[in-house]
Parts: sequence; structure tokens; C-alpha cells
Amino acid sequence: MIGARSPAQNLALATRARARMVDRVREMGVRDEKVLNALLQVPRHVFVEEALASRAYEDTALPLGFQQTISQPFIVARMAEILREGREMGKTLEIGAGCGYQAAVLSHLCTDVFAVERIRPLLDRARDNLRHLRLPNVRLKYADGMLGLPEAAPFDTIISAAAAADGVPEALKAQLAPGGRALVPVGGRQQYLILVERQGRQFRETRLDAVRFVPLLGGTE
Ligand code: SAH
Repeated sequence: MIGARSPAQNLALATRARARMVDRVREMGVRDEKVLNALLQVPRHVFVEEALASRAYEDTALPLGFQQTISQPFIVARMAEILREGREMGKTLEIGAGCGYQAAVLSHLCTDVFAVERIRPLLDRARDNLRHLRLPNVRLKYADGMLGLPEAAPFDTIISAAAAADGVPEALKAQLAPGGRALVPVGGRQQYLILVERQGRQFRETRLDAVRFVPLLGGTE
């Protein structure tokens, strides 16, 4: 019964629940302490609807409405760990801001985060959620992320929270800085994370984990 407790007691409970969530993510194999620390910093309960707040620190995806979900903490951490390996994340484009949770985690790992979302009410919610956390290096944009974000390109890192049916969109590859890396779920029923590494004019693609994401859709609504 969360309501029967004082705000200070609720905060202490949330902090403990979050530490347990991070322990589970570590047990599942994420080793990058900077990433684990970023997960520890972000109050996930702020990003889920009130009715689901008691489940905010379960390591699961949760519904956001509009047939979308807030990403599972493990996958947010896993993707950040893959992208960070051996380099700084620098200027980063996130496609599919949803409620803004992943953008908040990334803000602790990147110099700048540009997060785009194609569903207006979700973007408004992300804006609201992030305002409370005062993260000066996160910018949100209402846009179709399939086209990347030309006005802010090039990016050192691109991360997609939605699965591209037919391979990594060319616009995203084109907006990678030299040496930049993108991580995009690709596929329909069967999806994999595809890591794209740009070396000069060459792009190397590597297939990594099997995953399950909502689809990357074109246009805005
Ligand atoms: N990053 C979010 C996950 C949201 S789910 C989190 O932290 O929990 C994925 C999001 O991608 C959805 O909100 C969906 O609307 C959005 N999306 C799908 N296709 C998109 C596109 N072409 N451009 C921008 N956002 C897109």
C-alpha cells in the first residue's frame, strides 16, 4: 500500500527496489559499471503510469499506451554496454523516445542525447517526465526517426528502440560520424540487434542478440 507511506518512505523503497533491479541486470551479464550506475540514477517509477508504479522496478517491458512499451531495463543496459565498448558515446540519436526512460539513462552516458518520437502524446509525456529530472543534455523532437535527424547529424552513436523490418535504414547509416556506431533491432517476428560500425565510407554490420521490439513505423501521428 504505497499510499499509506510518507513520501520519504516511498523514496527509500523506490531506491532499494532500483538497487535490486540493477543487481538483477548485473546477474544477467551486464558488466559495464558506468552503465549499471546510470540505471541506478534514473527513477523508472517516474516514467510508468501510476497504476503500474509498483511494478516499475521489475525487469520487464511495461505498457505505455498507444500499443507501445517502456523498454526492459536489461535491454537498455545491454544496448548501452554494446555501444560504449572501447569508446565514448558522444553525440547520440535515440529513435523512439516513448516515455523518455532510455533517454534519461543515456543522458548519464553521452555528451548529448537527441531523442525522436513519432507519437505526439508520448513525446509530450516524455517531455513532462524529463522536465522533473532536469537533464540539460537531452533534447526531444517530434519526428520520424526512420529519416534520422538531419539537422543534428552527424552522430557518434545511433540507437533505435523500435525494430526496422527491412534492415538498418540508409538514412541512419548516412548520419553516422566517421568511427560512429549504430545499434538497431532488425526483423519482424524474428529480430536481432544489428551493430553498424562506420569506417570511412565502409559500414560493417554484425548480428548480435535475438530481441523483441515494437516495429519502427514511418511518418508521424
Ligand atoms: N525508448 C523507450 C521505448 C519506447 S518503445 C523507453 O525508454 O522505454 C519504442 C518507441 O518507438 C515507441 O514509442 C514508438 O512510437 C517509437 N517509434 C516507432 N517508430 C518510430 C519512428 N519512425 N520514429 C520515431 N519513433 C518511432
